[in-house]
Amino acid sequence: MREEGTLLDAGLRPTRQRLAILRAVAGQGKPVTAQELYSKLRGPRGGPGLATVYRTLRSLSDAGLLRTFPAGEGELAYRLCEPGHHHHLICERCGQVVEIPSCEVEEWAAGVAERRGFVATHHQADIFGLCGNCRAVEPRRARRSA
Ligand SMILES: [Zn+2]
Ligand SMILES: [Zn+2]
Ligand SMILES: [Zn+2]
Repeated sequence: MREEGTLLDAGLRPTRQRLAILRAVAGQGKPVTAQELYSKLRGPRGGPGLATVYRTLRSLSDAGLLRTFPAGEGELAYRLCEPGHHHHLICERCGQVVEIPSCEVEEWAAGVAERRGFVATHHQADIFGLCGNCRAVEPRRARRSA
């Protein structure tokens, strides 16, 4: 099972709870909050409690398996990212996240650091905006409210 190996590689015991939560996050196109995941995992026979979902998500992100994204009002949303250095395009309206596997700012970051006497060890850069779908609905909305 792929998720089991992922957990073991990160030094986490693959408990049933962790596997279920990791799989549930992996199945989402967008980052999910603990609250959303909690509602999703609650079936007719119950599911993990909200505190457990919070705790498990935090341990998965502490282990570097999940990335966190701001979800408003101090909430965090979690997403399973590809391993390795990459950047994100994030839609501010629908929350969709697109991974950009290439890094085009490495040289710029190293240069900026060097000119100020730093040695760059790593950097983070995400781009926020509106995705194609959201841009398509935007003009209609604007006209209606005008
Ligand atoms: Zn990512
Ligand atoms: Zn969007
Ligand atoms: Zn980069």
